[in-house]
Amino acid sequence: MAELADTSKTSNQLPKTQKAIRLHAPRHVKVDDIPVPEIEHPDDAIVKVLLAGLCGSDLHPYRGHKFDGAEPFVKGHELYGEIVRLGSSFASASSGSNKAEGRPKGYATYRVGMKVIATFSVSCLECEYCIHGFTSRCVHSQLLGSPALPGAQAQFIRIPKAGGTLIEMDSSDLPPETAILLADILPTGYFATLQAFQHPNLASFLGRTNGLVDSYFNTNVVASAPNKTSVMVFAVVGLGPVGVCALVSLIDFMVLQINGARSETNNGSQSRPPKLTFEIIAIDLQEARREQARKFVEQITEESWASEISVKFLSPNDAVADSCHAVLEAVGSSPTLALSSQLARPFGVISSVGVHSNPVFPVPTPLLYDKNLSFAFGRCPVRTLLERSREVLARRQNAFKGFVGTLVPLSEAPTAYERFEKNEGGKVCFAPWA
Ligand SMILES: [Zn+2]
Ligand SMILES: [Zn+2]
Repeated sequence: MAELADTSKTSNQLPKTQKAIRLHAPRHVKVDDIPVPEIEHPDDAIVKVLLAGLCGSDLHPYRGHKFDGAEPFVKGHELYGEIVRLGSSFASASSGSNKAEGRPKGYATYRVGMKVIATFSVSCLECEYCIHGFTSRCVHSQLLGSPALPGAQAQFIRIPKAGGTLIEMDSSDLPPETAILLADILPTGYFATLQAFQHPNLASFLGRTNGLVDSYFNTNVVASAPNKTSVMVFAVVGLGPVGVCALVSLIDFMVLQINGARSETNNGSQSRPPKLTFEIIAIDLQEARREQARKFVEQITEESWASEISVKFLSPNDAVADSCHAVLEAVGSSPTLALSSQLARPFGVISSVGVHSNPVFPVPTPLLYDKNLSFAFGRCPVRTLLERSREVLARRQNAFKGFVGTLVPLSEAPTAYERFEKNEGGKVCFAPWA
């Protein structure tokens, strides 16, 4: 990839104005000249944006959801960039002070010139939610690129609670267009998978006792295991960029599960997990998206997983009701949530990471009771899952070859948004200095 910007001269002098993509009215984005942000709080950082993602959830205000058009605002919540200013809470910005002591490590270690990504919502790492791993519901949580906090589709961005929200990338050998996947969509896809895999309703299939007393588990699950191969069926609903990340994470979880079972069998362990094979049903309305997702999955070549994991790419009409142990919903619409509930089998789990805007829950309550359905919803705690997602990315780099298509200059924002809304092309990133 070509150089994203000449970053050698940025540290000392910042310009007064910058270019930024702002949403003025539903379906009306425009490139504006606006002031370069400044440090407003000692915990802030100013980051020069070298790459900014365009994400499915950017489309919600674009379509007029939760946006009245009163004030234009800077879009975008995914970025890769370089720190150009740090507030006085950072050790490197206030020499001799020990303000960073006892605070998240970033306040002691972050320096101007460092390459970083940011979690897509502010994560302080100091409040009770953050401490327990629920960083997506930090008490300081603000979504980057919302009316309250100007976003990343600009040349510069102000990052609040930057000692927690920023993640340094200097020590990473990932190229920027891969690293930026860690700002949102890969952890979000991973989260969709994790919420399903760790659910108690799936535990006994995976050889864990959660939810069953040990004696019941041993008499029934373990005793029947030697004669039986269980098939677990998972669906991924929606094969946009987040859906593909969920699909790759799901395959990664399955490979680890299979390899874990193999190594326990080799060791002659008494309580080995039951023999398992996995089926994945990858669903999207559009054939082009199914084909694109198939291409990424077929790039996973380094494992001999094909005999134990099968992936079928289907249109919603071809999927079988009541067939899935878990459904990963990666769209955030009422029809996809209703479809997910249809596909789940009794005691099935629906893990939904799409951003929903319908105030009414679209699944009839009798269906919830009659199928004992479980739901897990919401925004991904990116900061908590970062290291795990980074491992998935390291193991599955092949799958993401060609994932970010062409880089788009800010000036082409109106067309890029239009095309992205029509699902044309794959993941889009803006290069604000191109
Ligand atoms: Zn995003
Ligand atoms: Zn917090």
